[in-house]
Amino acid sequence: QLSEYVPHRFHPCGPGKGQRLVLSRMFQPQNLREDQVLSLDGKSDSLTCKSQRLMLQVGLVLPASPGCYHLLPYTVRAMEKLVQVIDQEMQAIGGQKVNMPTLGPAELWRASSRWDLMGKELLRLRDRHGKEYCLGPTHEEVITALVASQKKLSYKQLPFLLYQVTRKFRDEPRPRFGLLRGREFYMKDMYTFDSSPETAQQTYCLVCDAYCRLFDRLGLRFIKAQADVGSIGGNMSHEFQLPVDIGEDRLAICPSCNFSANMEILDLSQTNCPACQGPLTETKGIEVGHTFYLGTKYSSIFNAQFTNAHGKPSLAEMGCYGLGVTRILAAAIEVLSTEDCVRWPSLLAPYQVCLIPPKKGSKEAETSELSGHLYDHITEAVPHLHGEVVLDDRTHLSIGNRLKDANKLGYPFVIIVGKRALEDPAHFEVWCQNTGEVVFLTKEGVLELL
Ligand code: ATP
Ligand code: MG
Ligand code: MG
Ligand code: MG
Repeated sequence: QLSEYVPHRFHPCGPGKGQRLVLSRMFQPQNLREDQVLSLDGKSDSLTCKSQRLMLQVGLVLPASPGCYHLLPYTVRAMEKLVQVIDQEMQAIGGQKVNMPTLGPAELWRASSRWDLMGKELLRLRDRHGKEYCLGPTHEEVITALVASQKKLSYKQLPFLLYQVTRKFRDEPRPRFGLLRGREFYMKDMYTFDSSPETAQQTYCLVCDAYCRLFDRLGLRFIKAQADVGSIGGNMSHEFQLPVDIGEDRLAICPSCNFSANMEILDLSQTNCPACQGPLTETKGIEVGHTFYLGTKYSSIFNAQFTNAHGKPSLAEMGCYGLGVTRILAAAIEVLSTEDCVRWPSLLAPYQVCLIPPKKGSKEAETSELSGHLYDHITEAVPHLHGEVVLDDRTHLSIGNRLKDANKLGYPFVIIVGKRALEDPAHFEVWCQNTGEVVFLTKEGVLELL
């Protein structure tokens, strides 16, 4: 009986044997109409783009206050998967994960002058003793002070590649586009410390390559564009941009030599490519990552030193590298989805498979048993699908309605266990989201496909 399924609580290793994840028990607002979504978000920001509308409609996020969202269970799963891929890429190049406090002491920010330079974007507060802090919008000051506190660093220990994935706070003048521009969002920020400008440049290239691999693995077409170094200084900076019309950045692209740059750079008012003189074209993009070579800008302020090969103190050469974690989720949905249906990078889909048994009625016991068997079979026989299969047990709804919901949520595979599957072993109807195919398979065929 479907009603006998054990309620599932999210657990890192998925449901235990005999437990099945059922949709009716999920905290998942579904099927909101466009006007309901509008009234939901009416108090914060109005609907500004497709990903924001879809994420609200299918119950991925709910607005909390302007620029702040509740991330609901499906989104948290997708984000955890994204963080896992980020961890793999950062650790493959030697990254070490840390976690720094959100409260940044004002004196660190005054030392770099950014307490004033950041203006109203910096969210400030005082503790009970009157001491001033900001809610970290980024962590160059904090991490440089942390590394500077280690007085006995040797050049032999460098480079250090330290990173974290944490919430960041920026009082954006115009929070909009849902998770794309929030006032509270997740960022992966890495900071690197090298013993010479030459090795720092190598580290810079290493991190950029890791970013390229990350976006390739997610199946997202990106542009690596030269970027303005702005107030950060240094002489090298690149943005990783997803080309899409609602993007807020304007990029100049050279189709002949692949040069690309953010048009914020001033000398780019020209219409010809600075590299090959060919004509430039323009496209819009969403900035999903940003890399900077910082030199000694921060290490000189906080005295982040190490002992060099000659036994003398020397300032660390630094780089900083941001990835907008929540922005990547929304941007991926923005570029991959249709107007009505969410589409994910396959690696990030919150659940890989949705099983749909028939509507309540005759042969109910038999079909629920059959779908239960298939559920157990898939999760046991395919190790990477353990915890990745949901059963849409809302059998008061027709198969068609539930199939529509599943399509909207973007499970890579939807399997309908209809009554015909009782007689015909080759009648599991499988919808493959990524290829758009519908195939009829046996149980073994299903396993093979997955
Ligand atoms: P933008 O130009 O879009 O305001 P930024 O240049 O101010 O972004 P960085 O300081 O480079 O942002 O931060 C690193 C990354 O953090 C960005 O590349 C972006 O992916 C992400 N990010 C920045 N601001 C936000 C925000 N308000 N909401 C969500 N993600 C953000
Ligand atoms: Mg900004
Ligand atoms: Mg920018
Ligand atoms: Mg930036």
